[in-house]
Amino acid sequence: MGMKTLKGISAASGIIKGVACRYIEKIEERVPHYIIDKDGVELEVSRLDDAYSEAKESIKKLQRSSRNILGKIEMGIFNAHSMILQDETIYKEMVDLIGSRSINAEHAAYDTFNEYADKLKDKNGHFSEITHDIVDVRDRLITSFSGMSGDFGCSLGKKQPVVIVAKRLTPSMVLNIPREHVLAFVTEEGGFTTHATILARNYGVPIILNVDVENNIKCGDKIIVDGSAGKVIISPDKKTNDYYSAKIEKRLARKELCRTGKDSSKIKLPFHVKMKANISTLDELKLLKDLKCDGIGLLRSEFLFSGRDDPPSEEEWFAIYREIFEKIGDKPVIVRLIDIGGDKLPGYLRLPPQDNPDLGIRGARAIDMFKDVYLSHVKGLLRAAIYGNIRVLFPMVADVSDILSFRSIIGKAKSALRKKQIKFRNKIKEGVMIETPAAVVLAENILKMVDFANIGSNDLIQYTLAAARGDQLIEKRYHILHPALVKQIEQVVKAGKKLKKEICLCGEIAGFEEYYPLLLSTGLRSFSVESAKLEDITCQLLHEKKPDKSTAKEFYKLTTKHSIDRFFKEINR
Ligand code: PEP
Ligand code: MG
Repeated sequence: MGMKTLKGISAASGIIKGVACRYIEKIEERVPHYIIDKDGVELEVSRLDDAYSEAKESIKKLQRSSRNILGKIEMGIFNAHSMILQDETIYKEMVDLIGSRSINAEHAAYDTFNEYADKLKDKNGHFSEITHDIVDVRDRLITSFSGMSGDFGCSLGKKQPVVIVAKRLTPSMVLNIPREHVLAFVTEEGGFTTHATILARNYGVPIILNVDVENNIKCGDKIIVDGSAGKVIISPDKKTNDYYSAKIEKRLARKELCRTGKDSSKIKLPFHVKMKANISTLDELKLLKDLKCDGIGLLRSEFLFSGRDDPPSEEEWFAIYREIFEKIGDKPVIVRLIDIGGDKLPGYLRLPPQDNPDLGIRGARAIDMFKDVYLSHVKGLLRAAIYGNIRVLFPMVADVSDILSFRSIIGKAKSALRKKQIKFRNKIKEGVMIETPAAVVLAENILKMVDFANIGSNDLIQYTLAAARGDQLIEKRYHILHPALVKQIEQVVKAGKKLKKEICLCGEIAGFEEYYPLLLSTGLRSFSVESAKLEDITCQLLHEKKPDKSTAKEFYKLTTKHSIDRFFKEINR
């Protein structure tokens, strides 16, 4: 077979060479269909109940065993799955189906979940995430009947690290495949910010989505995955193979150079670049222990108690923040006040159904609705701030009035603490997330009021391009290096320079080391990334050439996906 090159969407960078191994779900082949007698209904319902108990227990087990490898949203994924299994409407529909159509329990469960998944499929991004969860729970339940789950399509995956090639990733599937067996993930479906992709990204391997795997890749194929260019090459010819071997070798040598004592502060760039870490759970702090970085650029508070049904008390907030601040020591920690709405909703906050959650109750708009929750949260933070070098960050700001809403809750928290004569830190620097196009347009007005800003590219992309995060159907439009985003970054950086305020990029795109020539050319000098990527990026910076402004200019001229290819061609020369 001759060489084949497939294009997809890159969800994690890196380049590897290896063999492909198909991961087969084929759940439908494991669903027996049969008709039951009228007096067999009871037995089928009790089989359904057993499978439910087994599925719930397997989620708990997975949660326990993954506690140390999972961070931020990941643990919350399993809470979402448990909640689906607790949904009485879904359960009742299955029971009714067993009786009304006289069918076996697996068949009823399969049809019911599929119906829900189909209903939710074509709604907005928020719900397409739920579709994945529903399919994952369906498969877990079906597996609970038979004890058989999806598996490698060939024995290679059991013997050696392979490129996992699958129709799609699900959270359970990712966690079922041991990390040491994975060189990369290549899938047909999937979104840049879906739960499964976030989990897979933690493996630190290249990920490419939206590849036509079904017709092109089979078990045992020699394969190159170029996560930087979003390219999958099957059966590479000698020239391509040699090209990538040299590239991989160069990268490894570079990494080794960084590891063997080259101080990360010896950046050869003609300016200093700040590298910080994004953190969402206590677990992630462990990863930071030996890494050199300029502090925490984004602490996502909303994930700290995400699985809880009852709101955390002031004491609990105080305790968790104090623990984090004491662990970090003197380095600055930027604490974002809880950022809720869209795909982020801790269990302790209940929002009425909204037609469009990404455009609904988010950021400052939630303060009035959950005043007590915010008060405990802010009071706990202000008290713990005595133990750290902290700054506070306001999420989802669209204009100056949003800043005033956050300030007002901070003011109320301070008065309450004063009244009770409880010690807290009074002076804390304040910053905003710039992640709405409105905030970009008003960047100067907003920056005048605060000390610094973080650019949240994950949300800024979706609001700029009107393409929801994680929506399968428009994933191709969620264009992570769209010129409209790059231009907005430049605009904010310019405002920051004028007003002498630090601008830090903390969205997922900052986790791609290859984008740094472009990102640096916008004037950005401060970044906050997943801790797993800190080393690679610091290393990239050590070897970075002075960024070439013409690369960015050339890039702006083009507005299609073609522009990204051009950019990669430039940087891969
Ligand atoms: C962002 O939107 O880019 C961001 C960093 O915030 P989050 O991903 O938590 O919404
Ligand atoms: Mg955001």
